[in-house]
Amino acid sequence: MTDTIFSKIIAGQIPCHKVYEDDRVLAFLDINPLTRGHTLVVPKEPAATLGELSDESAAALGRVLPRICRAVIAATGVTEYNVLENNGPGAHQAVFHVHFHIIPRPNASEGLGLKWSPVGLEKSDAAELVKLMTTALQKTP
Ligand code: AMP
Repeated sequence: MTDTIFSKIIAGQIPCHKVYEDDRVLAFLDINPLTRGHTLVVPKEPAATLGELSDESAAALGRVLPRICRAVIAATGVTEYNVLENNGPGAHQAVFHVHFHIIPRPNASEGLGLKWSPVGLEKSDAAELVKLMTTALQKTP
């Protein structure tokens, strides 16, 4: 994986507004926040997408994400928020180092806007998907 702005922040080569750090995880304020308190939670491991991340980094992220959400709530007073993680340019990923956004949603017009257009789930396709996924999970735990 090539160097990204986040690996430079992790290495201390570029400054950030640090919120949290441990051996595996760094959290800092987004430089171009969608709303006040918008925070990024980043594994130190240089994986581009979530599926490439090790179990150890994933566990470390999972352990602290709720804690950092609580800190964002405490700092902003905003109790509703979205946690977003983009994978790939087509899915709006701009920095190719895994990062979770915590985005306060103070009201209906500020924060993450979502277009949610369900496509439906046929019984036969659900069965096929479950079969394919369980097979994949057996091959790559
Ligand atoms: P994404 O589209 O999910 O890849 O989001 C990348 C995010 O990184 C954007 O919200 C940017 O505002 C943020 N970002 C880019 N550079 C920096 C930086 N130097 N410090 C903090 N946040 C940054």
